[in-house]
Amino acid sequence: MELPLLDLKAQYETIREEIQEAVLRVCASQRFILGPEVAALEEEVAACTGARFAVGVSSGTDALLASLMALDVGRGDEVITTAYSFFASAGVIARLGARPVFVDIDPDTFNMDPDAVVARLSPRTRVVMPVHLFGRCADLDTILEAAAERGVAVVEDAAQSFGAVDSRGRSAGAVGALGCFSFYPSKNLGAFGDGGMVITDDEALARRIRLLRVHGEEPKYHHRLVGGNFRLDSLQAAVLRVKLKHLGGWVEGRRRNARRYRELLEAVAPENRLVLPGDYPGHVYNQFVIRAPERDRLRAFLDKRGVATEIYYPLPLHQQECFQSLGYRAGDFPEAEAAARSSLALPIYPELTAAQQQYVGTHIRRFFGS
Ligand SMILES: *Cc1c(COP(=O)(O)O)cnc(C)c1O
Repeated sequence: MELPLLDLKAQYETIREEIQEAVLRVCASQRFILGPEVAALEEEVAACTGARFAVGVSSGTDALLASLMALDVGRGDEVITTAYSFFASAGVIARLGARPVFVDIDPDTFNMDPDAVVARLSPRTRVVMPVHLFGRCADLDTILEAAAERGVAVVEDAAQSFGAVDSRGRSAGAVGALGCFSFYPSKNLGAFGDGGMVITDDEALARRIRLLRVHGEEPKYHHRLVGGNFRLDSLQAAVLRVKLKHLGGWVEGRRRNARRYRELLEAVAPENRLVLPGDYPGHVYNQFVIRAPERDRLRAFLDKRGVATEIYYPLPLHQQECFQSLGYRAGDFPEAEAAARSSLALPIYPELTAAQQQYVGTHIRRFFGS
């Protein structure tokens, strides 16, 4: 059996005609940049997240970058974020000349430890950037309270968590001052290329992001701010509008698959020190990440049997070569470093069948000799 980590062709088969119709609509209009498709997608995303404003941008990275630019983050400022995430979370901070201040994670959730954030708040802290990793909301209550006391903004990196809700029913991205999504094809809501979105309830911030998106231009050829080209394509928006209608069903599929993995692996988990992701109701399982001793051997064992897996992430952010000048060392964030050594993402895409999951479960059990 050959099992990829994600099977986008299987998903496309289920929506082929709707997608083709949407793409042809854009072809007929010959409007490629921003335009009515993007405006419609923005309205739909605002409605489904409960945010007042949504601004389509060129990628998840640019959503984060534009958000920090809108808050005037720059040289001399500190932004607190997690040591365990995709590179973009920290890269955007450094690109603006600000200092990424890393904190360790809660090993049970892979998300930033709120108490560690409070401990690292300083007079230079301008923003706290939690990441809702793998589709599970980070715990924001403590962070929001401490940040508000000091006038620090919270910018949520919800790139992996479109549609997720926290324990109080709030949508990922709609809790802090600004929330950022990525529509990279492997995300739960994925475009046919790059795309992203910023959501906010703050009208002034929404206006600033809209300006920054077009080089700060208003009116034409007059520039109020130095922004960038952060525009979203009409074709991407048209594809995303089709996919957004199916997202609820796909998330249900991912949750069902998470339940199946639990049934298959729960019995062998404790004795083999296998850790399954916590059963969190608002989780959207962009990734189903287990922790296993001898992770690399397990990965090779599964690979040999046709099961693709991935390591998110093999090297924490504070240990990246490009951040060496920040002065962090191995051992600074033991939980992030332990996660980098033990985490393994299994296929969880909605089209995965029960038989395919059984196959994965059987071989994981066999690896552990049960
Ligand atoms: C994917 C991702 C991003 C960046 O999104 P792009 O659309 O690829 O630029 C940022 N943060 C996290 C946590 C991500 O997973």
